[in-house]
Amino acid sequence: MRRTSSRSAKKSSPPKPQPVDALVHPRFSGIATFMRLPHIPRAEELDIALIGIPYDGGTTYRPGPRFGPRHVRDQSAIIRPWNPVLNVNPFEKHRIADYGDLSINPLSIDDTFRRITSQLAEVLRAGARTACVGGDHSILLPILRSIHQQFGPVGLIQFDAHNDTWGGYFGSPHSHGTPVRRAIEEGLLAGNDVLQIGLRGQVYSKDDFEFGNQHGFRVVTSGEFHRRGLPAIDRHFKRLERRPVYVTLDIDVVDPAFAPGTGTPQVGGLSSAQILELVRSLRGLNIVGCDLVEVSPPYDTGEITSLLAANLLYELLCVM
Ligand code: MN
Ligand code: MN
Repeated sequence: MRRTSSRSAKKSSPPKPQPVDALVHPRFSGIATFMRLPHIPRAEELDIALIGIPYDGGTTYRPGPRFGPRHVRDQSAIIRPWNPVLNVNPFEKHRIADYGDLSINPLSIDDTFRRITSQLAEVLRAGARTACVGGDHSILLPILRSIHQQFGPVGLIQFDAHNDTWGGYFGSPHSHGTPVRRAIEEGLLAGNDVLQIGLRGQVYSKDDFEFGNQHGFRVVTSGEFHRRGLPAIDRHFKRLERRPVYVTLDIDVVDPAFAPGTGTPQVGGLSSAQILELVRSLRGLNIVGCDLVEVSPPYDTGEITSLLAANLLYELLCVM
């Protein structure tokens, strides 16, 4: 791990960024940023950078996650700082701000990937951890490339209805269905360090699970979690306890009844209460970064998906 020098510099810097005071400027007023935090596009001033990645050129069904960051910012206006379940105020513990959106190329997935990796590498080199809001799940691959550059091999916890290990799509090696497979092939992750939670629904054939099985993925399906609850996960978290871990949360892990605004919905998923509980149970792990992807506002109803995403982003900050 190479993240030391900038840490000490931050200690002498000004007070930690705080959300706008809702008793001075009501929550519905002002320019939307994540959690009403200041917009600070300077990673050297931050411990955790909240970053939008508005790219959805990797979607295969319903598009729209390019609008995810804006809507999550909007709905995050209702987030208050103190977490009474985890007994923590993340904004008191760490220097957290809205870093803004990365520059992407809506017409090229390869160029977008290059841009994402290089921009995130800069943030990580400055000593900040990243919490990214997508965007579709294809962005996981360039994110993991930057994470690997900075931290070496990490464990991956993936909350998702899908395993995202497709071989390709219409001749392209990249889509939102391929990033986990590509990350293994590129040596960014070891297969037995991958934990997938929430898988469910039909696939093309039983071969769709072969890649994960061959590489030793640990899987807790949605059905298993419904039957057994948190005890189904515990031993898997224990294995990852002493490792740096990256967390990726595809909002479609949640049932479309709670999160309809997403590109490839699958019924039989988790409730919003269950995913909140799961994210909180990550506490104690060494989380080096996270993302929350696949929020598609055009398919949302009453902004409930963006609202849940904003809350999950907050909970992720609390366990970081
Ligand atoms: Mn996914
Ligand atoms: Mn998915």
